[in-house]
Amino acid sequence: MNAAEGHTYTDTEAAEWTTLDPLFGYSRHPHRSAGLPCRTGASVVSVDGDGTVRRCHFVPTELGNLYDGSYRAALRPRPCPLAVCDCHIGYVHLESLPLYDVFAGGVLERVPAPPPPGASWSVGHTVSPSIPVWSR
Ligand code: SF4
Repeated sequence: MNAAEGHTYTDTEAAEWTTLDPLFGYSRHPHRSAGLPCRTGASVVSVDGDGTVRRCHFVPTELGNLYDGSYRAALRPRPCPLAVCDCHIGYVHLESLPLYDVFAGGVLERVPAPPPPGASWSVGHTVSPSIPVWSR
């Protein structure tokens, strides 16, 4: 479930959405990203129709072009230059978040990993009070 753009959820509202999607907590608030390592620009890029390559569609700096291969020399790990990241297809690549494991069934498609035998999703542990994790 994706939190609505620009909407601030009360705890009651968030709890209701969480009953539908136990992973709603990841989407409820923007994620602080300034200076944090993000896979974009190294193993993940955003490409426009004309081939312009950027690390992601939030940071306008161009890395090069897909069709002439000029972007390749610019690929390297680099921290996020923005204060926050508020879109799943962006913050899912933050190395400070466990989302490659959480959404191992499809990182961009937001498909959760299947729960281990005997486990289920729960909210309110570990990384953040609103971040869901597996529990047994
Ligand atoms: S955290 Fe978001 S805004 Fe920052 S570099 Fe990664 S995808 Fe782009």
